[in-house]
Amino acid sequence: MKDEIRRVGEEALRELKELDGLEALQELKVKVLGKKGTFTALLRQMGGLSPEERPIMGQIVNEVRSRLEQAWEERGVELDRMALEKRLATERIDITLPGLRVPRGHIHPLTQIVEEIEDIFLGMGFQIAEGPEIETDYYNFEALNLPKDHPAREMQDSFYITEEILLRTHTSPVQIRTMEKLCPALPVKIIAPGTVYRNDDDATHSPMFHQVEGLVVDRGIRLSDLKGILLNFSRQMFGESREIRLRPSFFPFTEPSAEVDISCMLCGGAGCRLCKGTGWIEVLGSGMVHPKVIEMGGYNPKELTGFAFGMGVERIAMLKYGIEDMRLLFDNDLRFLQQF
Ligand SMILES: [Zn+2]
Repeated sequence: MKDEIRRVGEEALRELKELDGLEALQELKVKVLGKKGTFTALLRQMGGLSPEERPIMGQIVNEVRSRLEQAWEERGVELDRMALEKRLATERIDITLPGLRVPRGHIHPLTQIVEEIEDIFLGMGFQIAEGPEIETDYYNFEALNLPKDHPAREMQDSFYITEEILLRTHTSPVQIRTMEKLCPALPVKIIAPGTVYRNDDDATHSPMFHQVEGLVVDRGIRLSDLKGILLNFSRQMFGESREIRLRPSFFPFTEPSAEVDISCMLCGGAGCRLCKGTGWIEVLGSGMVHPKVIEMGGYNPKELTGFAFGMGVERIAMLKYGIEDMRLLFDNDLRFLQQF
């Protein structure tokens, strides 16, 4: 019987080692120590032992039982830990996975360009000025040396509201408004970004578009100052290797006037489709402020000189991003806008 007890004990210990889960552990416990368990059955047989044998057998039974219980406990802890590890492994959260993104808009490409232009000129000491989009004929034309019968008015097909009031056709009226406000303080050194309106609508023109006007008035301002500022701007906007050239042109509010070309950012000047083989791309209009305009602003054109320039924001954006149809900028098609 001693042997039988030890055998049952050994057997239970062996099975215990091979267990792979807490459920199986519980089942084994019932099978060995339960009411109908193998070990319990042996204990029942102890009733048939002689009084001499009983204490000896009792000691063996206690020994085996305490070994079993200890092993049980240890195995239980071990299985618990294994189960936890397994759960942790299967439920592991990969914290490197990106989270759910909330759809988010961003600044429109035109606004981005305006902000970039503003940053560049703020960096060169300019201030930002603004004016109304509904403008009087006086500020939009007359004060800019474009009297009523001036033929150059036809260069700009205007939206009139009354005889005397119109949607501004350019940001140039801000030149006069700013000079009036600042006079006699010097220097006048501003850029004026804003929306302008003309009766035009095709792939390169829109009835509403954006300009940035620039004006500097002070003592001793020269054409070379204009060129230096615009060269600096062009390089910051389109790349360090850009060159510029000034071509004689005509605007009523500047004398002399010049169209400003930059060396093509696509071919570097060798000639390509973008620059139509010339190596140069027209980006803006400029010139020395006409003495009459300085006078209209309240300053003395005999003492002061100045330069002015105006650029189309859409044109800058189209050149910078390689956009071929201006209307894309106003269609609000997200597939287009999301590229910027
Ligand atoms: Zn080119």
